[in-house]
Amino acid sequence: MNVLSRSPLTLFLLPLTLFLLTIMPSPARAQSKDRALEHARKLLRSTPLIDGHNDLPWAIRESEKAPRDVAAYDLRTRTTGHTDLSRMAEGQVGAQFWSIYIPGEIKDSGYAKVQLEQFDIARRMIARYPDRLATALTADDIERSFKRGRVASLLGMEGGHAIENSLGALRSYYDLGARYMTLTHNVTLDWADAALDSTRHGGLTEFGREVVREMNRLGMLVDLSHVSPATMSDVLDVAEAPVIFSHSSARALTDHPRNVPDSILARLPKNGGVVMVTFVPAFVSPEVAAWEAQAKEQENAIKEAVTDTLERKRRFEEWKATHARPTATLKQVADHVEHVREVAGSDHVGIGSDFDGIDTVPEGLEDVSKFPELFAELIRRGWSDSDLKKLAGQNLLRVLREAEATSARLKKSREPSTKTIQELDGVKPTT
Ligand SMILES: [Zn+2]
Repeated sequence: MNVLSRSPLTLFLLPLTLFLLTIMPSPARAQSKDRALEHARKLLRSTPLIDGHNDLPWAIRESEKAPRDVAAYDLRTRTTGHTDLSRMAEGQVGAQFWSIYIPGEIKDSGYAKVQLEQFDIARRMIARYPDRLATALTADDIERSFKRGRVASLLGMEGGHAIENSLGALRSYYDLGARYMTLTHNVTLDWADAALDSTRHGGLTEFGREVVREMNRLGMLVDLSHVSPATMSDVLDVAEAPVIFSHSSARALTDHPRNVPDSILARLPKNGGVVMVTFVPAFVSPEVAAWEAQAKEQENAIKEAVTDTLERKRRFEEWKATHARPTATLKQVADHVEHVREVAGSDHVGIGSDFDGIDTVPEGLEDVSKFPELFAELIRRGWSDSDLKKLAGQNLLRVLREAEATSARLKKSREPSTKTIQELDGVKPTT
C-alpha cells in the first residue's frame, strides 16, 4: 500500500497503533518478536537453508590444540569456533558449502599439496558424522539430504591459484567434489585480477576465459567473490551458466572492494546468478570498514617509526585502547540482503556467512545457530514467504540445476579443453 491510498480511518488508526505499541508491556512485544522467529523456524523446516561459505576445514587445519586432526576437532561438542553440530541444528542449516581455502601467498611447493590436504580434511570431516552430514554433489543430492535430516555438504574451492594454471588440475578437483571455485583469493593471478590486489590484466586474460568455459562445461559454479569488478564483468560476458558470489555484500552500502557494485548486481537477472550476502563485519558496516582502514594506516605508520617488534605491538595496542572497534549488526546484514533484492531482484539473493573465516561477527549473528534470527528480521520487515524461500536456498538450487543442465549440454559438443596459458596468453606463468 502507498501513502495516497490510505483511508482516513487508517490515518487515524496508525498513530493509535504506534501509541499502543509504545505502551505495550514488554512481554507482549517479546511475543511478537518470537512470532517472527517461530515463523522463520517453520519456513526453514520446509526449505533448505543453503549457506555459501564456511571456513571450518581451515579452522581444523589451524586448530591450536591439534592441527589437522579431524577427530580432535570434535563437532559433537561445543567448539571454540563458530560451527558445531548442535549449533548447526539450532541454526537450521540445510546445506553448507565448506570452503576448501588455501592462501594465495603460500609458495613453498606449489599449491597442490595444501589444496589436497584441505580436500582430505573436509572429506574426512563429512564422513565422520554420517548421522548428521552427507556429501552432496548435485542439487538433487541437497534436497535428498535435507529430507533425510542431514546437512548436505558441498565443497567450494577458494582461490583459482590452486589450479596452478592447469585445466587438468581443475578437472581433477571437480572429481574430488569441488562444486564451485572462487576465481581468485586476495592475490592477482596470471589470468585474473583480484579485488584486493593490483590490476594486471584489466579483468580476465584469454586463458582466464578458457577457465570459465571449462568450469561451465564441468558444471562447477564460477564464484566471483574476491575478484575485481573488471573480472566480474568479463566473466558475465563469457559465462554460459549462472555465476555465484559465495560471500560478498553490496558495495552501495559499504564501499569495500570485496563487495558487489550495483552495475554488476544489475547484470544478474540476465545471467541468472546469485549474490550470497556475507556477514563479514567490514563488508556490512561502513563504520567497521573505516575503522579497519584507519587501523591499517596506523599499523603501517608505527612500522615506519619503530623497529622494535614489542614496542610496535605496545603502540598499536595503545592506539586500539583509545579507538574502540565499532560493531556490525544483524540489521546491517539485513540491509545488504534488501539492497541486493532491490537492485538484482528476489531471484538473485542468498546467504554466505563466512563463519569460521572471520575473527569478529555482527551483533545478533554470532555463530551458525543464529541464521533464523536474520530471517525473523526480514519477516518483521515484511518479506513474503516466497522471497524468504528463494533467499534461503531456492535461488541457489536453481543456479546449481542450471549449471548442471549447461554442463550436460556442453559435454555433448565440447571435449575437455587442453589449452595452456602459454598458448592462449603467450606468457610464461610466474606461479
Ligand atoms: Zn573469502
